[in-house]
Amino acid sequence: MELKKIGELITSNRILLGPGPSNYDPRVMKAMTSPLISHLDPEIYPILDETVELLKYLFKTKNEVTLPMSGTGTAGGETAFTNVIEQGDKAIVCLNGFFSERNIEMIERCGGEVIRIDAEWGKPIDIEEIERTLKANPDTKILSMTHGETSTGVLTPLEEVGKFCSQTSTLFVVDAVPTLGGMDVDVDGWNIDICYSGTQKCLSAPPAMAPITFSQKAIDVIKNRKTKIQTLYLDAIELMRHWGKERKYHHTLPIIMIYALREALRIIYEEGLEERFKRHEEVSQLLKTHLTDMGFKLFAQEGYRLPMLTAVELPEGLSEREIITKLLKEYNIEIGGGFGKLAGKLLRVGLMGYSCSKQNVYYLISALKEIMS
Ligand SMILES: *Cc1c(COP(=O)(O)O)cnc(C)c1O
Repeated sequence: MELKKIGELITSNRILLGPGPSNYDPRVMKAMTSPLISHLDPEIYPILDETVELLKYLFKTKNEVTLPMSGTGTAGGETAFTNVIEQGDKAIVCLNGFFSERNIEMIERCGGEVIRIDAEWGKPIDIEEIERTLKANPDTKILSMTHGETSTGVLTPLEEVGKFCSQTSTLFVVDAVPTLGGMDVDVDGWNIDICYSGTQKCLSAPPAMAPITFSQKAIDVIKNRKTKIQTLYLDAIELMRHWGKERKYHHTLPIIMIYALREALRIIYEEGLEERFKRHEEVSQLLKTHLTDMGFKLFAQEGYRLPMLTAVELPEGLSEREIITKLLKEYNIEIGGGFGKLAGKLLRVGLMGYSCSKQNVYYLISALKEIMS
């Protein structure tokens, strides 16, 4: 077998403007070339602690149980649900796209019984329906919500729902995979009990880890479980024995990925949250203006549009596949198409973290104009 070098197989430096991964800062790449040491070496402890501190800053939380789970955003979801859902537990799931649909799958695999609250894809969830459903089901264990639906570009505000949940025993569980690091995710201020994300979207680190945080209310629920958590790997209390003061082995932490995440978080800290959110908002507005000027219609309802992911409807006669393939092959730009039942009908452009720049917007718009002329 004659194996080629990676450099011969991967020949392009893609501009990643899809729904994730995003490009990362060269500083993140450099951090990954630091020497590997063990996850139990005392020299690694400050790195672990600083990573946790930076995550608390980003999540705007004082939650003691805050850490990056090993695995991607999906592992964050599995960690959230597996820790709190037991056989027969009721879970209200708000649905308006592919990712929120998938939460049902994860909850049912834990033995949960799902009550659906559906909104049309492209629209936010009706807050009053959430309040009604929660009142009618006071024994609900969790309410699951997707902050940013990457499949449609819809943003669902969380603050009010958090308020309802905080007056009940229900835990408010939020998927902030694409939103964390690109817009405000105020875990404590919005009464979120479990919030999870991923590193390869607005954090601009490689896909590998899932930042997650648990409120004291969530930890109390976990400690009062009737049955053991069915997986050892995702057990938050056991994980904390390594990430917390005890430093007890749980699993071999992916140290190189933690170097990368810590560097990405340092970059965020240096930029400042407000500045970073403003950049995402402004660059996204520039993209949306150009796309609508070109005649595209924004898919998400006005007032509920994500800054980091813009979905536009494809006019009749244009092929999603053709545009995406040409952008990739001729311009080195990756964007996304429609997902699930929207396959073939949308273009989805991500402007996340390091990829979120005016320069990238101008380049993409010029390329699109050439392709369509
Ligand atoms: C990307 C994404 C996920 C899944 O994350 P992976 O890193 O692909 O596992 C979950 N939810 C939303 C809303 C996402 O955008």
